[in-house]
Amino acid sequence: MAETLFSKIISGQIPSFKIYEDDDVFSFLDINPVAPGHTLVVPKEPAQTLDQLSEKSAAALGRVLPKLCRAVMKATGTRSYNVLQNNGIGAHQAVFHVHFHIIPKPDSEQGLGIKWPIKPLDPQTGPTLASQIREALES
Ligand code: AMP
Repeated sequence: MAETLFSKIISGQIPSFKIYEDDDVFSFLDINPVAPGHTLVVPKEPAQTLDQLSEKSAAALGRVLPKLCRAVMKATGTRSYNVLQNNGIGAHQAVFHVHFHIIPKPDSEQGLGIKWPIKPLDPQTGPTLASQIREALES
């Protein structure tokens, strides 16, 4: 697979403010934080988007994310935070190597701002949609 910006950070070709590393996961400070402590958590496997990631890497990420969240919150003295994971240009992904953002939310000015354009689930289309997704899971 092609080398990504984050592969170069993982291998040390590009410097970073490293926070954590194990066999499958690397974590470091975001270079353009939206709040102090904004941290990236990256699988060493260079999958572009989450749906392409192996179960092994996904499990490794799942194991360490909670403790990294605890560490970021403790170090920044923040109680609220978001975990963000973008996939695809349309969803604001800029680096095509899977990564999770841990973003402290110290106040209304800093951290993640969210637009949440809700509409009630249509009771007519809901069952069909759920069944289509269940079928996709099995295929
Ligand atoms: P995304 O929009 O989800 O793809 O986020 C990519 C993130 O990578 C952005 O928040 C960038 O600030 C961050 N980023 C890009 N280059 C670097 C770098 N060299 N070191 C640390 N973070 C970076």
